[in-house]
Amino acid sequence: MTIELTPLDQPTRSDLTVFSYGGGWQSTAALVLAARGDLPYRTFLFANVGADSEHPATLAYISEHAAPFAERHGIALHLLDRLRRDGSVETLYGRLTKPGSRSLPIPVRMSNGAPGTRSCTADFKIRVIGRWLKAHGASGEHPATVGIGISLDEIHRANARRCEPYEQIVYPLLDLRIRRADCPSIIRSAGLPVPPKSSCWFCPFHRLSAWADMRREQPELFAKSCALETLLNGRRTELGKDPVWLTRYAAPLDEVVPADDVLPLDLGDGGCDSGWCFT
Ligand code: SF4
Repeated sequence: MTIELTPLDQPTRSDLTVFSYGGGWQSTAALVLAARGDLPYRTFLFANVGADSEHPATLAYISEHAAPFAERHGIALHLLDRLRRDGSVETLYGRLTKPGSRSLPIPVRMSNGAPGTRSCTADFKIRVIGRWLKAHGASGEHPATVGIGISLDEIHRANARRCEPYEQIVYPLLDLRIRRADCPSIIRSAGLPVPPKSSCWFCPFHRLSAWADMRREQPELFAKSCALETLLNGRRTELGKDPVWLTRYAAPLDEVVPADDVLPLDLGDGGCDSGWCFT
């Protein structure tokens, strides 16, 4: 027997409507579209993996450009930290490097190049935003509407993540048929510079070209990434486990990342541009 839901039986949306701001091209284009009234979002939520974890260029862009722009247009842009039970802030880098920790929450590459399972997206993004939504009235009965900045050329990423009970995910850039390549002109039309790609600086989803850029342009950050890989593998060795890597080439970063040439056919990088680490 098929039971048809009447409108009254269907979940009622709460009035809470937010946009998951990832700090990259798509969500900054969405911010511009919201500011000019083309999208109905007045609250943008950025799940901050940590001042020591998010790429510094993204945090600088938000504080210098996105946040002042949002404020000028009456849009609330909230930067949300992951909080421990005692109210202190936990960062992803802090969790990774905590002395004695066995936690490996990021998608490190195994010896065959495949990424391992990760909990970083769920713990530091989905749950952080979920906690804010629930604190502001979202529930299973009254789910919040959460806009995600997936563009038409990334349509395969839509619906890749299941909705939590307290949210209904929508993809407003798909409705407007906006492609990633459209985003820079939308962003510039508001007088904003185009943001860098957003992700943790140590994300193992970076492609080799992104690592090569970091090695050339931010050698200190590159050295810190090498040190992180070494730290993780020191721990793995103590536990009698195979090494893991930040690239898919099963060798230390400073051996596999070229010091100068940008590799052809290795465009862009992964990360959390959409705010959910769909990579
Ligand atoms: S950018 Fe990478 S490391 Fe950071 S939360 Fe997303 S998947 Fe995890």
